[in-house]
Parts: sequence; structure tokens; C-alpha cells
Amino acid sequence: MTSLKPLLELQRVDTALLQLSHHLATLAERTNLTAATTVLAGFNKELVSVKAQLKVAQHDIESLEIDNKKCEASIAKYVQQLKTIIAPREAEALQHEIAMATAVRSANDDRELALLEVAEQFDRQQVELNNQIVKQNEVIEQATRALALAIEQCEKSKLELTAKRVAASAAITSEMMKLYDFKRNKRLTPAVADLHGSTCQSCHLDLSTVELAALKKSPEGEVSECPNCDCYLVV
Ligand SMILES: [Zn+2]
Repeated sequence: MTSLKPLLELQRVDTALLQLSHHLATLAERTNLTAATTVLAGFNKELVSVKAQLKVAQHDIESLEIDNKKCEASIAKYVQQLKTIIAPREAEALQHEIAMATAVRSANDDRELALLEVAEQFDRQQVELNNQIVKQNEVIEQATRALALAIEQCEKSKLELTAKRVAASAAITSEMMKLYDFKRNKRLTPAVADLHGSTCQSCHLDLSTVELAALKKSPEGEVSECPNCDCYLVV
């Protein structure tokens, strides 16, 4: 029976490398950063909408003010005309015009007041959103730093494991390495495992007493394999 202990060590390093690459691909820090960025995008979108609504309200207020100036000019003109008119019918018509313009002006004032309130509300929302955006940018900065740190740690672990792999490989003959690579390329579970009691650590199935006895008696030069999953088995 050929000793598979050096291969087992290599397999452990390779398993750790696989776990590390899975860990790197699914870092919680990356999920956090993505979530924080989505929140910021939401705030920015809302801000664009609030700004647009505020602009419309301000434009409407300006229009009403222009219209009111026209009303005032008309009223002043009619009042002036009233002073020079003697015919009661004409005076009546002018008074009617004045009343109309005054009513329009009053309605405009009411609308303007309502719009000013609306604009003020949008303005408050804009300030609040800008505050939230500043805070969210800080959250994103922190999340970015946390992610960079996590990636750095992964890279450090990877370097350590790579060095371990080189050391573990040094103890393995090229022939054994070929067997290992061949077996490893065909499967997702470990290509080499040991037994915990009678349980294969690759497939986690129990070997029968007969199977165990057969493995222990396998001749020199033969590489033991798990009867369940075919992995190389350190007996
Ligand atoms: Zn097995």
C-alpha cells in the first residue's frame, strides 16, 4: 500500500484554496457595498424628482406674479379711466372690469400662497435628501474600505496557502501528482481523504468492516480507493 499522507496534505491545502475562492466570491462586505450603493441611487433618483417638482412650482409662482402685475396695471388703468368718464354705462363697464381683474388677482394670490407652501415642502425635502446623500456616501466609503480589507485578507491567505501548496508538492513524486491531478479533475469532492473511524472524509459514507479489512490488506504499491466514491483513501 502506497502512503498517501503527502497527497492528503496537498488535498487539504487545495480544499482550503477552494473554500477561500468561494469566500472571496461571496464576501458579505461586497453585498453590503452593493446594498449601500442601491440606497444611494434611490436617494439620488428622489432628489432629481424633488428638484424637478420644485422647479415647476417656482415657475408657476413666477407666472402668477407676472399675471398679477398685469392685473394691477389693468386695475390702475381702469381707475384712471374712471376719473375721466361721465357716462354711467361706461363707468359701470369699467367697474365691472376692475372687479374682474381684482377677482383674478385674489385667486392668483390664493394659488401663489398654496404653491409657496408646496415649494417650501420640496425645499425641505431637498435639504433632507442632500443630508441623507452625504451620510450614505459615508456609509459607502466605510463599506468600500471594509471590502478592500476583506479582499486583502483573502489575498494574504491565498499567498500563505500557495506557499503551503509548494511545500506540500515538494514531498510528492511526479507520478503521484499525475494521479492526484487526474482524479481531482474528474470530481468536485476531495480526491484524497482519510477515514474518521470508518467514515470516508470525502463522501462521508461509512465503510463496512469487510471493506476496511480489505483496504488494510491491500498490497504494497497499490493506491487505496474508497469503495463508495473512488477517492484515494489514507488508511
Ligand atoms: Zn468516499
